[in-house]
Amino acid sequence: MSVTDFGPATAASRPALLRFPGDVRTVTGSTFLIESDHARVLLECGLFQGFTDLRRRNRAKLPYDASSIHAVVITHAHLDHCGYLPRLVRHGFRGPILTSAHTARLAEIVLRDSARLQMETARHANEHGWSTHRPARPLHDETDVDTTVKFFDAVPVGNHVETMAGTRLTPLHGGHILGSAWAQLTLEDGHTLATSGDLGRPGHPLLLPPEPFTGADVLLMEPTYGIRRHEPERALTEEPAMTSARYTVNDVMTKNVVTVTPDTEFKEIAAAMKQWKVAAVPVIESKGHVVGVVSEADLLPKEEFHAHRIGLIEQMYRPGDTAKAGAVRAEELMTSPAITVKPDVPLPQAARLMADQRIKRLPVVDADGSLKGIVSRADLLKVFLRSDDDLAAEIRREVVNRLFPASSVKASVTWGVATLTGRVRDVTLIPVAARLAQSVEGVVGVDCRLEGEASD
Ligand SMILES: [Zn+2]
Repeated sequence: MSVTDFGPATAASRPALLRFPGDVRTVTGSTFLIESDHARVLLECGLFQGFTDLRRRNRAKLPYDASSIHAVVITHAHLDHCGYLPRLVRHGFRGPILTSAHTARLAEIVLRDSARLQMETARHANEHGWSTHRPARPLHDETDVDTTVKFFDAVPVGNHVETMAGTRLTPLHGGHILGSAWAQLTLEDGHTLATSGDLGRPGHPLLLPPEPFTGADVLLMEPTYGIRRHEPERALTEEPAMTSARYTVNDVMTKNVVTVTPDTEFKEIAAAMKQWKVAAVPVIESKGHVVGVVSEADLLPKEEFHAHRIGLIEQMYRPGDTAKAGAVRAEELMTSPAITVKPDVPLPQAARLMADQRIKRLPVVDADGSLKGIVSRADLLKVFLRSDDDLAAEIRREVVNRLFPASSVKASVTWGVATLTGRVRDVTLIPVAARLAQSVEGVVGVDCRLEGEASD
């Protein structure tokens, strides 16, 4: 295929010719061939993978002369992008294989593994006679890999290198796998061409985010997932979500709990509540299980009924209260079964339970029903009383260091309001940072003043 509508050429050279020997109507076997007056560069050298029809293409006659290729550019170490290299070398290629240092190291492992698999498959086919080829031969073997790795020529990501006279290569972080880099080529006629390779998403915990596309006359894209839409919200917050709702009931509950037994009498309960200044007591049976809760509200009807005789009609409308008025022991006063909460429940969930049930405190019980503590609405607010320094330290640790490692981004907190300042390379992470800072428990607001790095 000839790409002729490049627009006005900037140099006297003829426009380059772009060909697609692979990766057409399929997503494996990535290969593009760019030919200018003095350079023949192969972009990617992938293996066809999948069904037999596709794999057969690996053995087809090459539509170009391997020995005439000056250089190969590899974006990353997946087989569908680099797996044909030993075969290309077997066909006579002897130029530099330009790629990042990490891809070079990783590709060697991947190619050796691939060679061993092919050799084993060929041996198995010959032993059992299931191949149509007699004898079956591997596409390439370990000796081909030994030769191939000698041609790896690492190019630092972000640097420009002159590959041939007038042809310049710039690899840029691809964020797909270790070492992956998309490639930008400036051709001798002055035009530019970029190939995406496979690109990752920003916000990966280990990989640098893909470098934004900065423009080219021709862009070659990998379409594997081109028709699908990621769910950006979830995808971006999944990993760093540890900052959200990390505090559980266990962190804020009161562990010394005043309790009563089912046969504790009214006066004793009232005295205990007064002495310990608590508004409710869990009722514990002999095995230590919580069977109910007696709260001030449960005691009040008793007091009220003491004060005046209540009419029959009122008793009919308030049967529950009337029963409590006659009760003298905890088991008759208590609200049962008790609404309880597990220690590992996140605070927002405990708060919702209290709101839904219109109660001010929850006994905390473990899996076998034993009492571990009690949590009140006031306890839930403790996280909002964390010091500004404490909050700022957590934002630096969990948000800034994770999203913008080795950057100059600053986080400070005043009266619970976090301020983020500085310049970041990947502007798509700015809203993520604001959201994560907001999700740090105790932060009441975020003033996000992050900006993108000034482009040069
Ligand atoms: Zn890949």
